[in-house]
Amino acid sequence: MSHICEWCGRKADETRNTVFWELPDGSRAIAINETPAITCSDCGMTYQTEEIIKEIEDQLFLVDTSKIDKVIKFEDLMAIPRLLKRNYFDFSS
Ligand SMILES: [Zn+2]
Repeated sequence: MSHICEWCGRKADETRNTVFWELPDGSRAIAINETPAITCSDCGMTYQTEEIIKEIEDQLFLVDTSKIDKVIKFEDLMAIPRLLKRNYFDFSS
């Protein structure tokens, strides 16, 4: 699957890279290895799509971040069971 580079508009490729992410409580940052990324060979930009950013932020918000090491693989992060089973934003019950 090919992508269009958000920066220069040319064709970009799906790759993986390491990103540094601050935890939602701001206590520390972790490195997430092998995170899906888009790399553009024309302008040299590597970045995460909105979908991946949202996935990481949702996951960090819903898991016990104290159990996450300084470095974690993207797949391992996504495999951590979420603490909240019910819809967090449903206040009707
Ligand atoms: Zn580009």
